[in-house]
Amino acid sequence: MIHPDTELRFVSPEIGHGVFATRRIPKGTITWGLCHFDHVLTPARRLELPPAYAEIILNYSYMTAQGDAVLCWDIGRYVNHSCDPASLSLSDEMEVAVRDIRPGEQLTDDYGMLNIVVDLQCRCGAPGCRGTVRGDDVLRLGRVWEARLREAFALAPRVPQPLLPLLRNPRALEDMLAGRALPPSPSAFCIPSQAAGAGGRALLPAVPDPGIHPASA
Ligand SMILES: [Zn+2]
Repeated sequence: MIHPDTELRFVSPEIGHGVFATRRIPKGTITWGLCHFDHVLTPARRLELPPAYAEIILNYSYMTAQGDAVLCWDIGRYVNHSCDPASLSLSDEMEVAVRDIRPGEQLTDDYGMLNIVVDLQCRCGAPGCRGTVRGDDVLRLGRVWEARLREAFALAPRVPQPLLPLLRNPRALEDMLAGRALPPSPSAFCIPSQAAGAGGRALLPAVPDPGIHPASA
């Protein structure tokens, strides 16, 4: 479920839609979390689905470390990638704001943390745009992500967390907020072996054109 202080807006014909803050969202806030309405599609379940679903899964889901595809039920599935994202994955069930997000600012995350199975060409426009977002970006950026996550999550106990009661697994966040557990290292949930070029595409049904991901975005 996406943070309640957000709305869907059309960005451009090339990018499509994006998710924007309607109020300030402080650094350290959980901006998205796996909830009871989200669809968690196991590899077996994906094989049961008609092939026409493959494109939807490829475009709108992300992959967990266990190889499940998660399809958000709400506008969370329209969160775009940025190489300088407003949020990062705190685990494969949560995103956390790594800076204060202003009203009207687009919520973005880093698809390099989402076990993407197809490399993405990126034109996000951020200074330092990587140009290509890869499923094994954790090998190069894992320590950077981890440092930013630790710094942002240090603020998490002191900011409102409206998604906490809606999470499918609230205990994980409660334990981290109470200091009983540390945020996991990105290497625990970003699994390069699932990435493009490493057989990861076998996780998805065949699709005619792998270049359709909107992430560009
Ligand atoms: Zn970029």
